[in-house]
Amino acid sequence: MGIIVQKFGGSSVANAKRVNNVAGIIADTYRAGNEVVVVVSAQGDTTDDLIEKAQEINPKASKREMDMLLSSGELISASLVAMAIERLGLPVVSLTGWQAGFITDSTHGAARIRRIDKERVENELAKHNIVIVAGFQGINRYDDVTTLGRGGSDTSAVALAAVLHADVCQIYTDVDGVYTADPRLVKNAQKLDEITYDEMLELASLGAQVLHNRSVEMAKKYSVKLEVLSSLEKKSGTEVKEVIKVEKMLIRGVARDNDVARISVIGVPDVPGIAFKIFSLLAARKINVDIILQSIGRHGTKDISFTVSRMHADQAVSVIEEVRPTLRYEQLVCDSTISKVSIVGSGMVANPGVASKMFEALSEANINIQMISTSEIKISVLIDEADSERALNAVHNAFIGD
Ligand code: ASP
Ligand code: MG
Repeated sequence: MGIIVQKFGGSSVANAKRVNNVAGIIADTYRAGNEVVVVVSAQGDTTDDLIEKAQEINPKASKREMDMLLSSGELISASLVAMAIERLGLPVVSLTGWQAGFITDSTHGAARIRRIDKERVENELAKHNIVIVAGFQGINRYDDVTTLGRGGSDTSAVALAAVLHADVCQIYTDVDGVYTADPRLVKNAQKLDEITYDEMLELASLGAQVLHNRSVEMAKKYSVKLEVLSSLEKKSGTEVKEVIKVEKMLIRGVARDNDVARISVIGVPDVPGIAFKIFSLLAARKINVDIILQSIGRHGTKDISFTVSRMHADQAVSVIEEVRPTLRYEQLVCDSTISKVSIVGSGMVANPGVASKMFEALSEANINIQMISTSEIKISVLIDEADSERALNAVHNAFIGD
């Protein structure tokens, strides 16, 4: 008995049948004696459809109006889920983001939650209501509606769980948990019972696409226990927490990210300040750089390569072209057909040989590695996109197998 925050993603509330199914899960949780706060995403592809509608009318619509439009998807879900619960005869109230007290900064389209004024939600809970909150949105200090960025409802849910000191934040989705790899790509992928925040964070940012990055960051920061589980099947999911039982598994997961473009600035003068020049220019345009590689200087020149998300590739190229007269490089090459394949696991900290095992698997599959990057609990390689599915399977089999 405690406070439980449940979040239902777009696929879980996609149609009337699914909305009723979700209402059933919520009702069971409430009847078990819990205080229940629910965060919902927009139904199915609603957000994409809304973006398309806007494009038809004004492809250059302001971000403020886009937020006004996109926030409506979650309002539909919230009220429909509330209606389904009313039908079950339970007390319920649905709230927009601002009614639920979500105050954000003013970065329309990617707003950050500043605080949550939780009085309204707590008052509703005190009245024994089930509270359904529209995810993905808030208001800024000018009372304008903001949205948190694609996939942001996870973050709404975790933030609410944090301020309410909920016992658990359950993220219901259409998969039954976090897997060692995307089961659609790797057929012997295994479901994990548990994973640490740090591992999940790496996997989320590596394109595992189960949880919104910021939601995991926030869960870690405020020690919110997360559970990822299926709304369609009744079985246990994956728990995300600080420390997990010691397991023999060295690697927790293998992920692929295709949203990678590699830019190489070839033949820049081998003098101080070049890297600073390039990366400060990119930073000024808010272009995020991921992997960076600089070659050893030869004959007075060196090469600098880095990766950005594909959406930023053209912009990054033109930023660097603009300064060609001062950078005096020989050639600028951009390749958007590459993938990043990564292994993640806290176990690698204490175990040598993890990298070599990964490279061995890739070499046996005859896959060429273009760039390598490592962190404490992660090793990533850049490879040709055409090889990525094979690479994922080869690496997965080497560490996890059947
Ligand atoms: N509906 C929003 C999106 O599609 C937010 C979310 O689903 O979490 O990105
Ligand atoms: Mg989502």
